[in-house]
Amino acid sequence: MTFPTQAQIIVIGGGIIGCSTAYHLAKEGAKDVIVLEGGQLTNGSTWHAAGLVGQLRSSANITQLLKNSVDIYKNLEAETGLATGWKMNGGLRLACNKDRWIEVKRQATTAHSFGLPMELLSASEAQDLWPLMDVSDIVGAAFLPTDGQANPSDITQSLAKGARMLGVKFYQNTQVSAIKVIDGAVVSVSTEKGEIQCEKVVNCCGQWAREVGRMAGVNVPLQSVEHQYMVTEPLKDTPVPGDLPTLRDPDRLIYFKEEVGGLVMGGYEPNPIAWARKGIPEKFYFSLLNENWQHFEQLMEQALFRVPALETAGIRTLTNGPESFTPDGNFILGEAPEVKNFFVGAGFNAFGIASGGGAGQALAQWVIAGEPPMDLWPVDIRRFSKVHADDDFVCNRTLEAYSKHYTMSWPHEEYSSCRPVLTSLLYEDLKAQGACFGSKNGWERPNWFAPQGMPAIDSYSYGRQNWFDAVAEEHRATRESVVVFDQSSFAKFSLKGAGAGEALSWICANHVDSEVGKLVYTQLLNDRGGIECDLTVAKVAEDEFYIVTGTGFRSHDYSWIKDNIPAQFSDIEFTDITEQRTTLSLMGPNARQLLSQITVADMSAVAFPFASLQTIDIAGHAVQALRVTYVGELGWELHMPREAGADVYRAIMAAGGVYNICNGGYRAIESLRLEKGYRAWSAELTPDCTPLEAGLGWAVKLNSTIAFKGRAALEQRGKQPLQKRLACFTVADVNIVLLGRETIYRNGKRVGYLTSGGWGYTIQANIGYGYVRNAQGVDNQYLQEGEYELEIASVRVPCNIHFKALYDPSMAKVKA
Ligand SMILES: Cc1cc2nc3c(=O)[nH]c(=O)nc-3n(C[C@H](O)[C@H](O)[C@H](O)COP(=O)(O)OP(=O)(O)OC[C@H]3O[C@@H](n4cnc5c(N)ncnc54)[C@H](O)[C@@H]3O)c2cc1C
Repeated sequence: MTFPTQAQIIVIGGGIIGCSTAYHLAKEGAKDVIVLEGGQLTNGSTWHAAGLVGQLRSSANITQLLKNSVDIYKNLEAETGLATGWKMNGGLRLACNKDRWIEVKRQATTAHSFGLPMELLSASEAQDLWPLMDVSDIVGAAFLPTDGQANPSDITQSLAKGARMLGVKFYQNTQVSAIKVIDGAVVSVSTEKGEIQCEKVVNCCGQWAREVGRMAGVNVPLQSVEHQYMVTEPLKDTPVPGDLPTLRDPDRLIYFKEEVGGLVMGGYEPNPIAWARKGIPEKFYFSLLNENWQHFEQLMEQALFRVPALETAGIRTLTNGPESFTPDGNFILGEAPEVKNFFVGAGFNAFGIASGGGAGQALAQWVIAGEPPMDLWPVDIRRFSKVHADDDFVCNRTLEAYSKHYTMSWPHEEYSSCRPVLTSLLYEDLKAQGACFGSKNGWERPNWFAPQGMPAIDSYSYGRQNWFDAVAEEHRATRESVVVFDQSSFAKFSLKGAGAGEALSWICANHVDSEVGKLVYTQLLNDRGGIECDLTVAKVAEDEFYIVTGTGFRSHDYSWIKDNIPAQFSDIEFTDITEQRTTLSLMGPNARQLLSQITVADMSAVAFPFASLQTIDIAGHAVQALRVTYVGELGWELHMPREAGADVYRAIMAAGGVYNICNGGYRAIESLRLEKGYRAWSAELTPDCTPLEAGLGWAVKLNSTIAFKGRAALEQRGKQPLQKRLACFTVADVNIVLLGRETIYRNGKRVGYLTSGGWGYTIQANIGYGYVRNAQGVDNQYLQEGEYELEIASVRVPCNIHFKALYDPSMAKVKA
């Protein structure tokens, strides 16, 4: 085979992800696809994987992607003639204490929400499925009958064969040494055998993906970590059935699977060991690390309790293989925000075999279409930002994520490593006032404020948590008086230059280019009419706009806007100015009186109407005041140069004494926005739903003739009945906790799941939002005629459906 000088798509890496991506690229019709592998196929992490294939994740679409893997593995042999070793022996998950049992029951509900069967079992029923185990400490268990196991190398070879049959060419012993980027787009790849011009590159280099990304100036935040499992000889006196389900015992941090009459046992130590921090050794192919029995002993002890027969079992091997893990435990997929046509599929956190089929399929579709086939936000490479370019941050946060792989996954749990990184100017001041911070995209954000005498520390629970009363107080103060929220972590962009208004008009679904001083809430749509971003745009001058979006969406929204500025507007300057600005939100019915005392500007409703902005003077600083609210009360977001933050905050607090002003945190904001029905991107709003389905048709300029991205799809959708509609539900029982992902039943039939859930302190009820789905259409009548229930931790409870915001400002006054 002569070495090519040109190819349309180059996949780098011949592990399971590279082979699956190449196979699916060819299946989707891509021509001229080649795979470059530095060594031999599978010689990275793939050849030594244990092969468990679990499917349930906390996102519906990622679960769907893992279900797709199973479908692909089931059918591949028939197509290629090479077996995959796929065995649907089911997966068992144990709970050994009360809290874990709640977690497992909630997982079973999540599984039902996502259409995956998951049955709850007693300890003895679990033992019937897994006779080798001691069940004396087991409270309950859950069984996923469609989980299984497979042979990692066989699947990969089978995928590679399928790809070859469809025309993909593989070049092994061909290491990529450089990647050329011109004008922000990839153009070629260099190897010792020559340079290859190309249109697109897909980096599927597993633990090498960080350094291969760097060749193109792309940040792939992952870290290699040692991961061990042992394989026993066949157990002599205790037969291990060939169809034994895989077993996860998270309270003991271990997993098991059957292997030729013996057992594989591995796990996730609380003190993981990072590997190759200074770079992966040359040609680390088909290589393992030294056995580390001392480190493995902690897992061994746990395993001996669970399976006493291990006491006498012969140990065949202890495999210590490095694998790439990421700072949030999810893998990394998609087009890099830094470089056009450079895609990544890496960082599989020890579930790359389970994900391989579906992830390769989704990535291939993404490469071809230039956008993901469905909402893949939890794994999207654009969820990271600048902090993830720092090696120490990535390593330490990744080790924390690894150590938490099997620990309780508490609602609202925060990471504790690498903090603080990015702070607002007020960080120390707020800390001294009892702020309990959370960490988002590197930013420290006050979640709630502990009253005097109470430690500002989260105490996690599946019931009502220790911050419940403190958040109630912040919520009440916002409804009844005035509260200041430090929202300096908001992502903030400046877009200016000739044609800025026209460009934004194309990108945004709402009318953003009207008079100077207008503030507009808008969605940014993809070509399917799905919601890619949800943000506010302020017109500060002719052809100059100030854009504000959520902390977590910084890279995503920035790259979406940048990529969609039409080519003819080449003079537009688009800049991320997040760190340059302090943002204080002053919210509550007394916000106007308070502000009027610290500025000479006229803050009256006539002079300063809703959805407008003005520059006002506070404490000698020019402050951009945006009249907007996410909590359903009168209020302003005050945006100012970073260094002005301290003076302005002091002025607010001094004048606010008469109103009993207090600080508020993000947990109060969440409960306030739920009551008011404000949607959140990545929960209610995603690339999979349109503004029409989300009840945001009023924010779309469909009644104008102005062209905007996504318009055609939306018009098309508007002609047919909507197949899903966002609805609001309440459950009044305070002992119930809604978290999101609870299943929605209509007239006894599963029709959807909650995208958000939480407690509304003013209305005194649990609030949930979720899409009600029906292939024949969902209109008001359909919604109204249903009897609804929510499945919460595997128990169904009746709920009420609502058609307008649960809260309106008159309610607070009635309560007061
Ligand atoms: C001990 C252990 C147990 C595991 N158990 C399971 C399990 O039970 N279930 C599960 O789902 N997952 C498991 N995994 C995880 C799984 O092995 C990985 O997630 C998966 O193999 C990752 O595949 P990949 O294709 O991303 O990476 P790799 O398999 O590492 O492939 C990357 C390829 O890129 C090539 N490459 C690198 N740099 C270059 C370059 N410059 N030029 C050309 N080629 C290059 C490498 O040679 C390599 O072949 C386990 C992992 C370990 C370590």
